[in-house]
Amino acid sequence: MENICIFCKIIGKEIPSTTLYEDDDFKVIMDISPAAKGHAILLTKKHFANIFELDDDTASKALVIAKKVATALKEEFNCDGVNILQNNGEAAGQTVFHYHIHVIPRYYKDSVRITWGQDSYKDGEAEEIAKAIQKRII
Ligand code: AMP
Ligand code: ZN
Repeated sequence: MENICIFCKIIGKEIPSTTLYEDDDFKVIMDISPAAKGHAILLTKKHFANIFELDDDTASKALVIAKKVATALKEEFNCDGVNILQNNGEAAGQTVFHYHIHVIPRYYKDSVRITWGQDSYKDGEAEEIAKAIQKRII
């Protein structure tokens, strides 16, 4: 995967990037096409295509680093909010198939749009769906 994956190439320094944090497991870089100034992406050093491939240890460490980056953005830009988001699969908007987390500074009057239409449940439907999902959570 390393030879075709753009984020593996960034990790391997074959492709340049602007790094704002690095440790043994992660590299946090500036997104090349930012939704807002300071938009950062946290990359795992190891190649995982998405959250389904990620091991639990890396998954929990990733959120700690994302929290540190979000806090730094909030302090530096005094932004009104921060989105932490992560896409898995083309249908979910993933375009680079190497696990990463977006950390995006937000302002009341910015032009960033992260929206979805809202549906509703019939009587009992939410409970039925929850029960079906619940038995798969291990
Ligand atoms: P996603 O759509 O969630 O897979 O996000 C992929 C992100 O990677 C996008 O926001 C791109 O702008 C960003 N991206 C793609 N190539 C590079 C690169 N060479 N350096 C930094 N960010 C990149
Ligand atoms: Zn990769």
